[in-house]
Amino acid sequence: MDRKMKAAVFKGNGVLAVEEVDVPVISNGDEVLLEVEACSICGTDVHILEVPPAGFDVEPGLIMGHEIVGKIVDAGESVRTLKKGDRAVVEPNDYCGVCRYCLKGLTNHCENQISIGVNRNGGFTRYVKITEKVAHKISDRLETNIAVFAEPLACVVNGIHKLGVIPGQSAFVIGAGPIALIYVQMLKASGATPIIVSEPSGKRREYAEKCGADFTVNPNDKDPAEFVKSVTGIGVDIVIDVVGSRVEDGIRAVRKGGKVLLFGFNTRAEPKIIQHQIVLKEIQLLGSWIARSTFPEAVQILEKGVLDLEKLITHIMPLSKINEGIALLAKGEGLEIIVTPE
Ligand SMILES: [Zn+2]
Ligand SMILES: [Zn+2]
Repeated sequence: MDRKMKAAVFKGNGVLAVEEVDVPVISNGDEVLLEVEACSICGTDVHILEVPPAGFDVEPGLIMGHEIVGKIVDAGESVRTLKKGDRAVVEPNDYCGVCRYCLKGLTNHCENQISIGVNRNGGFTRYVKITEKVAHKISDRLETNIAVFAEPLACVVNGIHKLGVIPGQSAFVIGAGPIALIYVQMLKASGATPIIVSEPSGKRREYAEKCGADFTVNPNDKDPAEFVKSVTGIGVDIVIDVVGSRVEDGIRAVRKGGKVLLFGFNTRAEPKIIQHQIVLKEIQLLGSWIARSTFPEAVQILEKGVLDLEKLITHIMPLSKINEGIALLAKGEGLEIIVTPE
């Protein structure tokens, strides 16, 4: 095995540079070394590279990338569930298992959380070192380009659990970026109908329709909440804000007694909340933060081919072009952009 590898390293101030770094070596018994097959670009990566970074505190020198699929090439002596040659997807938010939140089962709120690609070296490279408990085994059959969806899908599954969607429920999804489109596909697979999507980009609205949206609306042309009511009469059963700033639209579009899931994360947004409407309409406002114990389910969904995620892949590019890929996602011109190591 080579001792050096190419990696996309965060240099501070919005700069990501591809350079040579040392291949990591296992130093703890519970670690595995993964040879990266692919790593996709996430909205989080775009936020990290904003100046100043939006909501993420990343030290210069860090290898970015957290939506990782790879093959185990080395394993520490206490690793029990994986062996060399196994393939795995990575749960990027590693948890301690013993803090007050972990003991409550809220591992996504771990007080000692370590986030791969944010504060520990990530997957925009050839090799990445992770702990056994965040490496989730996948079959040899599962295509690499589908397996990379495990992380965003696991986050979506966390949200879907909170909504408890049942067939026939109506849903309104705000946004049509990669995560929103996974939500649309999950809602479709769960039997939700009609599914209405609000999104300013015409290209993304088209994708939403391909993913199962029954109606789409451009929020710059029409008031999306009024549009939702024109379709459903009393409003929708479920709203999902994947943008992170549209809670007002959600409160207006949901029916009385309905649920509004807030998934999008935007630290700069300060939306107005009409509090009395939440009381009057008996709305359940729910937050959903990353993935919690949902990787096994996400892997099952991928292995069984329940969703058609291939249609969300817009670009596959080598590591040397990663900045191009990040720019494409930032501009909304790309959806799922997959990076392969060099
Ligand atoms: Zn992600
Ligand atoms: Zn913990």
